[in-house]
Amino acid sequence: MDFEDNIKKLKTELKKKELEITKLKTLVSRDELTGVYNRRGFKEEINRIFNDIAFARANPEARKHFYIAHLSLLFFDIDNFKKINDTYGHKTGDHILQYVTGVISKKVRSIDMVGRWGGEEIAVALIGSDSENAYRKAEEIRKAIKQRVRIPSKDMVPITVSIGVAQIINGMNLDELVKAADSAMYKAKKTGKNKTIRFDENEKTMLK
Ligand code: GH3
Ligand code: MG
Ligand code: MG
Repeated sequence: MDFEDNIKKLKTELKKKELEITKLKTLVSRDELTGVYNRRGFKEEINRIFNDIAFARANPEARKHFYIAHLSLLFFDIDNFKKINDTYGHKTGDHILQYVTGVISKKVRSIDMVGRWGGEEIAVALIGSDSENAYRKAEEIRKAIKQRVRIPSKDMVPITVSIGVAQIINGMNLDELVKAADSAMYKAKKTGKNKTIRFDENEKTMLK
């Protein structure tokens, strides 16, 4: 085999390895059932943006033309999911998870991020949105999820979601942002479910 052939062979092997690495990266960062980011992948991606925002804030001169001014988090939890599983079975529950993440993914822009945080909890990062815009988007998604499901008859469990919304304020870190959105979502549950609640920024001290 001459030199040229050797190079060709090495290039083919390198391509193969690159494909394998891409596949492995997808495996560790994506949720198998829904195809959205898993918690690990979501955190990794969103941390990149957090670092970018911190950099832009610390270096206003370097970033006067382009920077991300806002970031909001939507925290979704499917309502009465245990009952849905108990009534229709785990497989249908899985389909509903795919359905909900599908509607969410279609409703956000490609730069936004959708991740499965845990069982029936889905986190969405809206890049550039303040909490008012994020609230509007959350309501649009909540209504779309509800509308696209067949109107439930008496014995059907409706598919609805409760959503908490929070935006980054005063150098919040990711954990604080998630906590804020999660506590707003909890309020939505406590006050009747199937609704969106914004995190009350006066409560920030309570998060610590
Ligand atoms: P709430 O309205 O207050 O949110 O009540 P809930 O029933 O939705 O919440 P709860 O935390 O009691 O139950 C969540 C259920 O989600 C229990 C668990 O079996 C189910 N679940 C978690 N992951 C999956 C999954 O991957 N597939 C299916 N089918 N069910 C799952
Ligand atoms: Mg839950
Ligand atoms: Mg739930």
